[in-house]
Amino acid sequence: MKIGCIGGHGGPSNRGCFIRSYGDEADYTLLMSRKLHAALPGSVLLRPYDQTLSLKERGQLAKANQCDVVISLHVNAVPGNGLYGFSAWHWPGNARMQKLGKRILTLIPPELRVKRFDGTRSCRSLVSAIDERHIDDDKRWRMRGRAVLGCYPCDTLLLELGFGATDYLALLDTTIQDNLCLAIERAVGEQYNGINGQHVTS
Ligand SMILES: [Zn+2]
Repeated sequence: MKIGCIGGHGGPSNRGCFIRSYGDEADYTLLMSRKLHAALPGSVLLRPYDQTLSLKERGQLAKANQCDVVISLHVNAVPGNGLYGFSAWHWPGNARMQKLGKRILTLIPPELRVKRFDGTRSCRSLVSAIDERHIDDDKRWRMRGRAVLGCYPCDTLLLELGFGATDYLALLDTTIQDNLCLAIERAVGEQYNGINGQHVTS
């Protein structure tokens, strides 16, 4: 069992969204993918530095590295403010990734869970198939999410760790960053090894 960690975006022309008090999503996802890779023994870091990678190239890297699962890290961007929270997205009907996403959601630091839900602007933390409608997405977002999930030749989980405009305090907190990676590591360990905190490669 091999897990591929990859930060979304990267390179001079693909910077992703803006994270308040930080900068580009591309740099943040690189940072977090490095942390996740360090937390997951035997995992592979598919984008180890700031480089341009097409979706096709990402899929080829996952294949070349014989990944069984890819975890793609992103930060959500939505026009305007008022949206909060972590979300995990999987291909419709992929029960394994739905299960993994749900377990991660139960383990993530509380600061990245929903802070507000007024039914109109704020979203709740969720795990969802990419095609399901939610108030925090739009058609363009779903098409991009489908492209990300569809580029890999294996099970893939797309994690939007939070929103760059509203979750930035939590996203930039190093303790929360580390705990988020530990949550993912624990969920992966439970699902694939039945052992908390131990990810054994074969
Ligand atoms: Zn992104």
